[in-house]
Amino acid sequence: MTPKPPLTILLCAPRGFCAGVVRAIDVVETALKTYGAPVYVRHEIVHNRFVVDDLKRKGAIFVEELDDIPDTQAPVIFSAHGVPKSVPEAAKQRHFFAIDATCPLVTKVHREAEIHFKRGRTILLVGHHGHPEVVGTMGQLPEGAIILVETLDDVARLPNFEEQALAFVTQTTLSVDDTRDIVEALKQRYPEIVGPHKEDICYATTNRQEAVKKIAARADALIVVGAPNSSNSQRLREVGEREGVQVALLLQRASEIDWAQFSHARTVAITAGASAPDILVEEIIDAFSERYDVTVETVTTADESVFFPLPRELRGSAAE
Ligand code: SF4
Repeated sequence: MTPKPPLTILLCAPRGFCAGVVRAIDVVETALKTYGAPVYVRHEIVHNRFVVDDLKRKGAIFVEELDDIPDTQAPVIFSAHGVPKSVPEAAKQRHFFAIDATCPLVTKVHREAEIHFKRGRTILLVGHHGHPEVVGTMGQLPEGAIILVETLDDVARLPNFEEQALAFVTQTTLSVDDTRDIVEALKQRYPEIVGPHKEDICYATTNRQEAVKKIAARADALIVVGAPNSSNSQRLREVGEREGVQVALLLQRASEIDWAQFSHARTVAITAGASAPDILVEEIIDAFSERYDVTVETVTTADESVFFPLPRELRGSAAE
């Protein structure tokens, strides 16, 4: 038997599930245990097919809009990304038992935007058009109160806002570097603009990007385990590419690996987006182990101990 070629896997830590995702999945599972199936979930609870399919098997029904839900006593859960204010209002009108699984760090951005609005400031939101979190944040305030800024070019195209007080908030899952540049450009154009101390990018996004930066110089290839519609997973792949990793891929499952891309790789870094379960990372390591003599080296760049309690409606049930 030909010996397997050696391969080192650098496993980023932290990687994968963040506190907001753990909480959101817990919300659906606790609601299922407490109230029985079905429970309705508006939008993918987190951006990961594996997680969504698992919850579907347990009795969750995923819908895009409240209109897709029949009249029901069953819980209706809003996803971790947050929702526009119109959604809980519509749920109330239909007498739904609504449970909000919005990540508390997204809710924090919603509250910041509301405070700026109350103080009469025009709000610039740095984020990606169409992302559910951006839709949710913009939907906290009347139309026109928040202006979306996606790029440096967008900053250049903004009006002068003479006499208008300005503030900025950001999406939580952006590229730390890109956002720093955009915020810097905003501050240069509008020196009086107010905003959070750094930006609103969450600890999990920041830590996962930092880990990829630290590991990049040692890696011939990078695999980010995550879904194509997961913003923080996409950003991780981009960070790897920018840091000069030759092959930087976003993969959902081991079956997607194109082995030809790894023919020259001796060191492969693996991380996972905040919505990707570790079982998928293990699946990919197992697939490498079938073809290579693998040594796994965990590279820890931060310790995470963030925990968010369940929403009030479910706290008693979780304790039981
Ligand atoms: S990525 Fe950050 S903001 Fe999004 S759910 Fe996780 S902790 Fe919350």
